[in-house]
Amino acid sequence: MMKFKEILKIAKKEEVTKEEAYEILKGAWFSLERTLELFRIACEVRAEHNDHVALYVCGGPHRECRLDPLCKYCWVNNPGFKWGKEDIVSPEKLDRALDELYSKYNVQTPYVLIGGGSDLKSDGKEIVDYVDNLGETIRKHGLQLTITGLPYISLENLEKLKDLGVREIGCPFETLDREVFYDVKPGDSLERRIEQAKLADKAGLGFYGALMIGIHDLTERQTPLDSVLKDYVEHLFMLKNFEKLSVCIYSFMPLPGVPLADKHKTLQLEVAKVGALARLIHKDVNIDISTNDLGLSLMAGANMVTWQYISLQQEVRQWWSASASKVLPVGSIYAIIFQENVLRHIERLGLKIKTWKR
Ligand code: SF4
Repeated sequence: MMKFKEILKIAKKEEVTKEEAYEILKGAWFSLERTLELFRIACEVRAEHNDHVALYVCGGPHRECRLDPLCKYCWVNNPGFKWGKEDIVSPEKLDRALDELYSKYNVQTPYVLIGGGSDLKSDGKEIVDYVDNLGETIRKHGLQLTITGLPYISLENLEKLKDLGVREIGCPFETLDREVFYDVKPGDSLERRIEQAKLADKAGLGFYGALMIGIHDLTERQTPLDSVLKDYVEHLFMLKNFEKLSVCIYSFMPLPGVPLADKHKTLQLEVAKVGALARLIHKDVNIDISTNDLGLSLMAGANMVTWQYISLQQEVRQWWSASASKVLPVGSIYAIIFQENVLRHIERLGLKIKTWKR
C-alpha cells in the first residue's frame, strides 16, 4: 500500500484512480495533519487548472415543488419557508430585478441560477416558457443561465433551452446509494435524475451535479463508514461522464419544521474533505464546497460560490438573510447581498473572480 503523501503527489499531476481516491479520503478522515496536506494539494491543483472563482446570482423559484411526499430534509416542508404557487417569481419580475441589479450595482459575474421545485411528470415545457418570457435582460447583460428544479425535461425541450441561451442544468443525485436516496427522497426518482443528466449532456448543455455529505446519517440504516466514503468516491467518478460539469458539495441543514430536524448537522470539515477530493478528481471543473465558512471552502480548493453571493427573493426570510451584508429592493423583489464578504475572502486568499472577459 502506497503512503498517503505518495498518492497525493500522483493525484496532483495525474488522473487519480478510484482506489487512490478512496485511500486519500480514508487517510484524511480522522487525521488533521493529512487533511491539511489534502487541502494544500487541492489548492495547488486549483491554482494550476482553474484558479478563478465563479459566483452565482440566484433567483426563483420558477415553479413550486410537486413531489409527493417532499424530500424529508428539504426546507420547503416548513409552512413558514414554503415554496407554494404564491411564492413563484414570475419571469417578468425576475427579469426586472436582474436588469436593475446589473444596471445599478457593481455585480461582477455573468452566472445566474434560477431554482425551482421538481416535477416527475412534466416534460419541461413550462420551464421553456419561463425562460422564453424572461425578456431581454439575459442577452443585454450577457448572462449565463443555470436552471435547476428538475427532473424531467424531454430532449426536445432541453434543446430549446439551449437555443434560448441556457448554459447548464442542475439535477443533483445527492447520493448513488439507492436505499439511502429513497429513504430521504421517497417522492423522487434517482433513475430519472440520472437519465435527465445524460439527456442534458446529449443536448450539449452543462450539468450541475451535487453531493449531499452526511446524507447516510439521515436514515436509520447505519451505513458503515467504508460504504459512505465509497459512495462519495463512486459519485465523484460517475460525474466524469459529463462533458461540461459543475459540482456542488454540500450538507444537510437541520431547519425547524423539517421532518429530519432532529438529525445532527454534518461536520463542515467533512464537507470540505470531500470537496478537496473532488478538486483532485475534477481538476479543471468549477467546484462549490458549500460549507458555512467560505474561508474553509476556498482553502479546501473550491472555486465556485452558488448560494452565498447574491440571492433574489420575493420575501426576505430571516433565517436566510441574517448573515447578509445588506438587502436591497430590486424591481418588486429583493436582493439579499452577501457580496462584500465573499469578495473580501477571495481577495485575502489572493484569488480572482471569473468575469465576462474569461
Ligand atoms: S425536490 Fe428539491 S425542492 Fe422538492 S422537496 Fe426535494 S429538495 Fe425540496
